[in-house]
Amino acid sequence: MSERYPAMPPRNPNPPYKRIATEEAWLTPEIMALYKKEISEKTINDPGFNQLWGFFAGDSDMAQNQQRRIQSLGADRLADMDASGIDIAVLSLGSPGVQLFDTARATALAAESNDQLAEAITRHPDRFVGLAAFSPLDTDNAAKELERGVTKLGLRGGILNGHTLGTYLDDEKYWQVFEAAEALDVPIYLHPNMPSKQMIEPFLSRALDAAIYGFACDTGLHALRLLIAGVFDRFPKLQIILGHCGEALPYWLYRIDFMHSRIAATGRHPNVKPLKRRAWDYLCDNFHYTSSGVGWEPPIRFVQDQIGVDRMMYAMDYPWQFVKEEVGALDAMDISDAAKKAFFEDNARKLFKIA
Ligand code: CA
Repeated sequence: MSERYPAMPPRNPNPPYKRIATEEAWLTPEIMALYKKEISEKTINDPGFNQLWGFFAGDSDMAQNQQRRIQSLGADRLADMDASGIDIAVLSLGSPGVQLFDTARATALAAESNDQLAEAITRHPDRFVGLAAFSPLDTDNAAKELERGVTKLGLRGGILNGHTLGTYLDDEKYWQVFEAAEALDVPIYLHPNMPSKQMIEPFLSRALDAAIYGFACDTGLHALRLLIAGVFDRFPKLQIILGHCGEALPYWLYRIDFMHSRIAATGRHPNVKPLKRRAWDYLCDNFHYTSSGVGWEPPIRFVQDQIGVDRMMYAMDYPWQFVKEEVGALDAMDISDAAKKAFFEDNARKLFKIA
């Protein structure tokens, strides 16, 4: 039996790999100011946003520290990376990013954010890599902004912060951005948002809505909606990244595969058609996974063993789960040197094209 609440050993001071953290959040001052405004004016009818940012956009010391950290693209962030043994951070707009605002405003904010991120990367090219934000419901502009981010600004993929005001992207009218990602050969990080308004009610009264559990429910659901809608049959080379060891989906592989095959074969639901491949295949071949928020060896190894050593990457989930000691636990994993280097460095270099 494994030790409960395992202590974290000191990190390796000279590891034979760089540590690349792949799900690290930031927000522009403009978006942070808008969140505060929405909270104070109570204009957003999204209970998840109000619960999370109602606290973190506030004035407590904890909230102020979080705001300082998440907005830093300079000295504060670099000091925290140094203090926690992170060499390179893959930055993406924190949740819900622009996906709280009406489509036109979200599109403008995404472009501004991508420009700011690209500037920060120019200042610290050896420390920062970035993913492009886009406005998912803006069917005219989402793919264009992803393309601009990748080809003009040097960003290495896209960030999708879950549903957008309750809309999930399994409706094919939103698929241009997936088509663009496949054509550009860049991944889309499907990062959590708070559970949608349709889903969140029973989570709220025990504060189960956010990272403790609700994030995984909503994000895993979103991933499966995409899969079952056939997005990977349409775009077979598309790569989606899931954090938090895959939002528990790898653990469900067998049953998802079994039940989806059965539902599709019986034709009992009009929106579940047979796919070209099995659910199991898509979850292995069209997804990459990160360890964000999970400084614990067993689920990381489960993904490595069942999905593949070449598809599991390190992430800290800064600043939400900033644990300076975390990499020590993962430096000490009982896996081969090659698997450890793949986890911390090689897989991220390959997927995000980090020279
Ligand atoms: Ca995160």
